Amino acid sequence: MVDLAAYIGAGAVLPDSESNLLDCWVEDTTPNGLTSLVKPLIANSHIRKPKWCPDSPYFQEVTAGGNWRNIRWVCRKWCCDPCREYRITSEIVPEVSATLDWASSLGWTAKLLTLTAPAGGILSEASPAGCKARSRRLQHFKQEFTRKGEMFEYLSVAESHKSGRVHLHLLVVMPYVPQRVIEKRWGYRVDVKGVGLRCPKCYPGRGATREARKRSMIIPPPGRGSCSNCGHTVDWANPANMADVVGIVALELSKYLTKEADMAGVRKRMNRTQAWGKRCQVKRPKAPSFCPDCADEHAFRFVGPSARLELAYPGLKVAAAARVAYYPAGGAPSKCWGKDTVWVQSVAAVASSGLMDHMPLMADWRDSVPGPPDN
Ligand SMILES: [Zn+2]
Ligand SMILES: [Zn+2]
Ligand SMILES: [Zn+2]
Repeated sequence: MVDLAAYIGAGAVLPDSESNLLDCWVEDTTPNGLTSLVKPLIANSHIRKPKWCPDSPYFQEVTAGGNWRNIRWVCRKWCCDPCREYRITSEIVPEVSATLDWASSLGWTAKLLTLTAPAGGILSEASPAGCKARSRRLQHFKQEFTRKGEMFEYLSVAESHKSGRVHLHLLVVMPYVPQRVIEKRWGYRVDVKGVGLRCPKCYPGRGATREARKRSMIIPPPGRGSCSNCGHTVDWANPANMADVVGIVALELSKYLTKEADMAGVRKRMNRTQAWGKRCQVKRPKAPSFCPDCADEHAFRFVGPSARLELAYPGLKVAAAARVAYYPAGGAPSKCWGKDTVWVQSVAAVASSGLMDHMPLMADWRDSVPGPPDN
């Protein structure tokens, strides 16, 4: 079990849907290149974590028998660049792809809605209260559609502006509803865009009007498929073009999840309707904590950020790198983690006080404690 209280106490941002942070394989993190977004869809789905995370905090992995080791694991925070890139590729890209398939199976094109709210109001406030107000308002907004028999399923991302105001960006599966009707139902300004590509031939520059830019968007089938301004067509039979659309939407949505866009007091900035979550969200596989060596579950506990821990417990980093595992005072090693594991008897009687082994000056005392039995 992950100790969520400790995790939150350490200032961590929770993953968006699950509390199981550690459905993972255990490997050392190494500085390395990131997976490219160009070949994202299926090819990378087996990758379980980014190759490198500068912040990777410490976790304690505990066997059913009460032995443990300390490991560094990726933080998975959106504000961490490598983890964010990894999550865009492994979670957001497949999610957007599933969304476009869903809309298309209903004969619709997916839409991007930007919902604004007046400055100074609770709906645009970057705070937990503002977050709550927005989610309540979104529920009512959805009901405005469903009451009329119109589907309205979405993924929403909150964006904080430099001005301090918060906007909501929604990727939506819905039938065609005129913009003024959507705006009336929301109550404030709404920008509606079809999901597509900017026309490479005629997409206008920054100074152009919203209408001119919309005219030069190429909306993939079941949309028009070509530019309504200049007629430029895209070969939609080529999956690379569709992958471009997916990648652009994924980047668009995730640009609001960076460190710069961090919001005070707001932990969860992405929300999904229930049907959306079931249909489109990438669920990380559960229960990889099963250990083939002892044929039992291992538990994971968040210990703390690496920078702080390595300062307070100088031996921790070395022990983790040397694949040291511990059994409690009076206990015995187990078969877990393979034969490269170095087993050490801890000064602690239980895993939860295992950091004692890494306290400064503790090393001298440990030398006087009997080592592991010879086998
Ligand atoms: Zn990270
Ligand atoms: Zn064009
Ligand atoms: Zn085991």
